[in-house]
Amino acid sequence: MIYLVEHFYSIQGEGKYVGSPSLFFRFGGCNMKCEGFGCTEKATDGTEVLGCDTVYAVNKEHFSHNWIPIAKTGELLSILDLYELPGAVDIVLTGGEPLIYANDRTFTDFLEALIKKGHRITFETNGSLDVDFDTFPVYKECFFALSVKLTNSLEPLNKRVRGDVIYNIARNAKDAFFKFSIDAESINLGLEEELSKILVHSPKTAVYCMPVGGSKEEVERNSEPLIEFCKAKGYNFSDRLHIRIWDVNKGV
Ligand code: SF4
Repeated sequence: MIYLVEHFYSIQGEGKYVGSPSLFFRFGGCNMKCEGFGCTEKATDGTEVLGCDTVYAVNKEHFSHNWIPIAKTGELLSILDLYELPGAVDIVLTGGEPLIYANDRTFTDFLEALIKKGHRITFETNGSLDVDFDTFPVYKECFFALSVKLTNSLEPLNKRVRGDVIYNIARNAKDAFFKFSIDAESINLGLEEELSKILVHSPKTAVYCMPVGGSKEEVERNSEPLIEFCKAKGYNFSDRLHIRIWDVNKGV
């Protein structure tokens, strides 16, 4: 069963395609927790659940009662009709981790239908789950934002950095780029060395660094040190425009 958490039409707020009108599908569930990001969300039973800024799309135990179960491809496709889209806008598949559904035929049929309609599909993935490009060639038409998790996520190294997966996706996808969430404190704690151990798996792939933050205040606090880091290393700085403008992370 596929779980959809929310869908919304907005602009892409971060990464290579920032500013592009995009229809977002946020899928529920993830293979990680990233409690190191220190964000919390209150569940209906009052529990403060610790995780990343989309913990409501990650933690099945506390939030799945709000997720929409999807059994058929048509249920996903019909969502496009809810919006007055001006054409084949970008489709962004995010989460949670959308690639937990990578081998589900309902999911891959959805991708194929979107490509036929002329949409550009971008996955926002943690880059730790492999994609079978031979069985599902539709993934060769997709774009991948590889948001590989760093030490600050508190996930174990062998789980968050999968060199074989990074290499496979970067080599076979239509396009891929790295997108890292970085807080000001990490910059002085061996960040460059940590990034280089990830980038070695696909050295020619573009790098975008964006400030950690689930709120405008947090994003702004982390931005200036990160800009200086990007200037020094030659990486691209990526804003988190949606958070800076709307100061929330849901539905924008
Ligand atoms: S991998 Fe991404 S969605 Fe999953 S817990 Fe970490 S930050 Fe959240």
